[in-house]
Order: sequence, then structure tokens, then C-alpha cells
Amino acid sequence: MDRLKLKWKIFIFLLAFCGVLLLILWLFQTVFLSDMYKMIRRNELHQAIALVEENIDSPDLSEILFQLETDKSVIVAPARDFLKPQMPANGGPGGARPETITQTKEFTLSNGQVISLTFHAMITPVNATVSTLQIQLYIITAIMILAAVAIALVLSDVIAKPLVGLNDRAKKLSKGNYNADFIASGYLEVKELSDTLNSTAIELSKVDELRRQLIANISHDLRTPLALIYSYAEMMQDFPDEITTTQVQTIMSETKRLSSLVNDILDVSRLETGTMELHMRSYNLTESIDKTVARLSELLRNEGYSIVFEHTEDVYVTADEAKITQALYNLLTNAVNYSTDDRHIIVRQKRGQNSVRIGVHDSGDGISPENIPYIWDRYYKVDKKHKRAITGTGLGLSIVKQIFELHGVGYGVESELGKGSVFWFELESKQ
Ligand code: ADP
Repeated sequence: MDRLKLKWKIFIFLLAFCGVLLLILWLFQTVFLSDMYKMIRRNELHQAIALVEENIDSPDLSEILFQLETDKSVIVAPARDFLKPQMPANGGPGGARPETITQTKEFTLSNGQVISLTFHAMITPVNATVSTLQIQLYIITAIMILAAVAIALVLSDVIAKPLVGLNDRAKKLSKGNYNADFIASGYLEVKELSDTLNSTAIELSKVDELRRQLIANISHDLRTPLALIYSYAEMMQDFPDEITTTQVQTIMSETKRLSSLVNDILDVSRLETGTMELHMRSYNLTESIDKTVARLSELLRNEGYSIVFEHTEDVYVTADEAKITQALYNLLTNAVNYSTDDRHIIVRQKRGQNSVRIGVHDSGDGISPENIPYIWDRYYKVDKKHKRAITGTGLGLSIVKQIFELHGVGYGVESELGKGSVFWFELESKQ
């Protein structure tokens, strides 16, 4: 049944519906007709008795009796009349005496006199009617089957056509054609389905585009240091006597870059599969930040960057120190990467009642409000042409976000184009 086309399903359901209707019709028109007719006549007889009882003293009684005879075929006669009356049509010689339903009732007139009346309800034979109805039933059956076919065809066309269209486009989508535009036509459910499919296509195309960008970024990021390492190593092999510290340093720093890139990718996948565990413990956050800032300043001093850590007191928190340091490190490298010629970065620690807020302030290009919601997404890069951003994988902030969310702490960014950004997070602090 599941494999049947919609057209045939509708046809079968309609046919079953017609079948039930016809069966009911047939039962009432043939099997129960005679009984029902008699029941109705009995009812009419009771109504006639009630009417006569009501008007027994009325001067209109004879008029009422006449009406009963002509309209309802109920003949009223004094009870002493033992013979059943005959309808004129059947009264001829050889004519069968019609069946009647008879009931006698006594009525008391206003003067106290009691009269007895017999009511005869004539029963017309229904055999002829039944055969007429049967012929009509055959005709109705034929008409209903034709109507069921026509309705099934029209309905299946109305219902199935938009679905067939959507299905064709969905097949294209499954083959990677994200431009398969789902057209909403027909009825509300199809419109909703096509809207859902359209947004799915948009999301899929975004993911696909991001995947392409990531592969392009990563392969670029992997290729450059690998090429450098290879050429320096080759030089060292060819001229072993001329090995310089710069060559060795380059190999080491490029290897470091490679391993940090690989770590980024591993972190993202671990965070996403939920296999990253937090090792929570109480530690001195201020001291930890101080060390990170000092390490990074040392590394970047030659490039003219100054990173200042502003704090008034030591604050203790319970968190995963390595992860919080990694998040801070990512925020700091972003501040460095996106800073302008000013090259001045401030890390500010602000103590609240039961919390501590850390802000990383840069005076870089800033981020436009429409881009802010997306910067935390994986692989998202605002300005793909930024001189330093070329080396970014677009993963840094997504790692930061996941670390803060794993800890369940508040974080965010305030940024103004042309003025700079403040990336902040807030941890619960100990008194
Ligand atoms: P990326 O590897 O590109 O730096 P991130 O996830 O760290 O990836 O950052 C995502 C995007 O957010 C960046 O491409 C950049 O456009 C923007 N961004 C992040 N930090 C800053 C910042 N301090 N100033 C300006 N833009 C930033």
C-alpha cells in the first residue's frame, strides 16, 4: 500500500467510501424500505388519532376527517363498520384488497356520549417502488465510480504535482546543487515544506562554502611553513658548514606554527564531539594571566607590540586553567592580528562582588554590528583580505566560545568600527 502512487490511493479510498454509501443506500431502499414505510404509516395513524381526539367536539371535524383521507390516506369510520374500507384504485373487480393498519379508539364527547372510531391507514404495496429504486441504484453506482475516478485524478494532480516538483529539486540538492530553488505552490503544507527546503539549501551551501574555505585556508597554512622548512633543511643539507641560527630558528618557528594549527583543528573537533574534559581546580587567575601576557609580550616585543595587564589585586577562581589560558591566548592573538599601527593592547581585570571580569582591549579596526553575531562561528572571517588574517583559520573564536560555554560563564564583545574592540569574559571569583 505504501508503494502505491497517490492517485491510486485516493481512488481506492474514494471507492471504499462510495461502496459504504451505496451499501447504506441499498439497505434503506430495498431491505428496510417496507418496514420503514409501515413504521411511518403507524406513526401517521397515531398522529391522526391525536388530531381527531383534539378536535372531537370541533365543528371542523368532518373537514379534518376529509383531509386525513385525502392527504394521509387514513380513513376513519365508526367502529361498528367491520369491513375495511377500500381505496378506489384497488376497489375494482379482481383488485387485491389493500393492506391496512387499523386501530380503534373510544372518544368521549362534551355531552358525555362515548363514540368508538376505527382508523384505517392504507398501505400501498412497495414492490414496484423497490424495483424502480434498484435500477436507480445501478445508475447511481456507475455515476459514483466515474466520479471517484475523476476526483482521484483531480485531487492527485492538485496534491501530488507540487510534491513531485519539490522531489525533483530535492534530488538536485542531494547531488550538491544548492541553487535548487524550491517553489512554493499549491497549498500551505507544500509552501512550508519548500520554505524549509530552501533554508536547508542555504544552510548546506554555507557549510559547503565554509568547508571549502577551511580546506583552502588550512592547505595554504600547511603548505607555506612546510615549504619553508623543506627549503631550509635542503640548504642545510647542501651547505652543512653554512648553517645559521636564523635558518634553525625559522625551521623551529614554522614547526611551531604548524603544530599550533594542528592543535587548533584538533581542539575544535574535540570540543565539537564533546570529548574535551574540564579539569577544574582553584587557582590564581591574576598570576596566570600575568604569565601569559608576559610570554606573549616577549614574543612580540620585536614587532613593536606592547601588551599591558592592568590589575589591582590577585583573584582566585575555580576553572580549567589550561583552557582559560588558551581562550585568553586566542583573544590576545586576535587583538594582535587585528590591531592597527598603534600596536597597543590592554588586558584589564575588574573585580565585582562575586565575580571577576577580564577584558582584552585593542585599538584595531573593530567589527561592524552586522558581523558581530557571526564571528563566534566556526571558519568565519570578516575581512578575508586583512594582512595578518590570511594566516587565521577562522577557528580561534569558535574555540574561545566553546571553552566559555563549557565553563558556563558569560562572555562577549563590544566593538566599534575604526575604534577597536573589547573581548571580555566573566568568571566567578572567590572572596
Ligand atoms: P581568525 O583565525 O580569522 O582570526 P577567529 O575565529 O579568531 O578567526 O575570528 C573570527 C573573525 O572575527 C576574524 O576573521 C576577524 O574578522 C574577527 N575578529 C576577531 N577578533 C577581532 C578583533 N580583535 N578585532 C577585529 N576583528 C576581530
